Amino acid sequence: TPRIGVLALQGAVAEHARALRAAGAEVSTVRRPSELEGLDGLIVPGGESTTMARLAAPVRLLESIRERHAEGMAMFGTCAGMILMADQILDAEALTGFERIGGLDVVVRRNGYGGQLESFVGPLQVAGLPGDDTTPFEAVFIRAPVIESLGTDVEVIASWQDRPVAVRQGRILAASFHPELTPDHRLHRYFVEITAEHKVS
Ligand code: GLN
Repeated sequence: TPRIGVLALQGAVAEHARALRAAGAEVSTVRRPSELEGLDGLIVPGGESTTMARLAAPVRLLESIRERHAEGMAMFGTCAGMILMADQILDAEALTGFERIGGLDVVVRRNGYGGQLESFVGPLQVAGLPGDDTTPFEAVFIRAPVIESLGTDVEVIASWQDRPVAVRQGRILAASFHPELTPDHRLHRYFVEITAEHKVS
């Protein structure tokens, strides 16, 4: 059974933990670097990237995540989590001076899908989901980041209106939306599979 952590500084933590358990993982929460030990994977949830970066800074948690990822830990960034994993962020003034995780070869624009009132649900076709990959995935977008461009090693697994909204780069999975807010756990199962393929512990 893969051991997967959920970064628990802020944001949609309990929902991710529930979905991961349903997908067959052993789940723990992460608030400090020592809690990354022994993890095969980590979800960085949606919420507010600037708040998470601020809360992580005193214990240098995002640097520790980057190091553990380099050693083999898989990562899944959703919404704000994807922003923290992106190599480049547009509209990033509020993140200036804060460490991020990085590693995902994309350029993202924070709030590119608009503010809270422009939240929407988009039915997506997601490539490569375990089991049934023909039923649309109901993706919830809340102040979601737009993926403006991506590197050649980044595979697009879902698009919305011709723009990529879910991507995979090796053992990094990332989505602009909130897969934990719907009872469909296929993306979590997909991440559990990636994590098991790359199992480090
Ligand atoms: N716009 C938020 C940010 O910049 C992300 C929103 C979300 O995670 N739902 O962090």
